[in-house]
Amino acid sequence: MRYIEPHGHMVSRTTDDYQDMATAGCVAVSEPAFWAGFDRSSVDGFYDYFCQLTEHEPKRAAKFGLQHFTWLCINPKESEDVKLAEEVIAIIPEFLDRPSVLGIGEIGLNKNSRNEIKVLEKHVQLAAEHDQLILVHTPHLEDKLKGTRLILDVLKADKRIRPERVIIDHVEEHTVKLVLDQGFWAGMTLYPESKCSPARAIDIIDVYGNERIWMNSACDWGVSVPLAVPRTALEMKKRGHAADAIDKMIYQNPYKFMSQSPKFKLSV
Ligand SMILES: [Zn+2]
Repeated sequence: MRYIEPHGHMVSRTTDDYQDMATAGCVAVSEPAFWAGFDRSSVDGFYDYFCQLTEHEPKRAAKFGLQHFTWLCINPKESEDVKLAEEVIAIIPEFLDRPSVLGIGEIGLNKNSRNEIKVLEKHVQLAAEHDQLILVHTPHLEDKLKGTRLILDVLKADKRIRPERVIIDHVEEHTVKLVLDQGFWAGMTLYPESKCSPARAIDIIDVYGNERIWMNSACDWGVSVPLAVPRTALEMKKRGHAADAIDKMIYQNPYKFMSQSPKFKLSV
């Protein structure tokens, strides 16, 4: 089995996790910028985090034979403070040329608030100005359907944004069609407690097909499983999916989406 982990918060994981992922066939991991589990107190915290994502983590991943790519932003959970968000957005351009940066993410909404929408718009503008791919987080605790609609409206309002260069992550049964029908990519997050279980993710593929869709573990500092993608691949096999259909979901699709950035080149 070969696979790409398109959404893993590896700075929160141990070297054992890297080892297990590599053993299971992972060749590359993409890490969107995320909430640290606590609010950072200033823009300097983000500067250091972006250095960690673009300098330190690729080296750590390489020790286990994995290529590491990343996405930058201030996440929706910290977007309530618009002034801080503006300061963070202002430092992002100096990191965009770094070799492992694929785009802006994970941006989106958490509580669907006015300030969050304002900061989302600023990120979309930044991505458009610098011709970056976009990775979007959709809310779990608040109304996901409403949040997804609001996010798609913001994206569609900027005519420079091409839907095929945007992935809307954490889709579920009630949001996947909305996303795919409008030409965006969809991501399914495999979580043991919330979001999507492997069985539900496979049901979604069975119903909506396997074009413009990927699966990820979104492993972070909380309850999550770094091997969720290969485990779901095994589940697909058990349910009779052909080897090539499994490879498409866990390798070819993320490869296709991320290859839209010229920086996404796999050495294997
Ligand atoms: Zn995430």
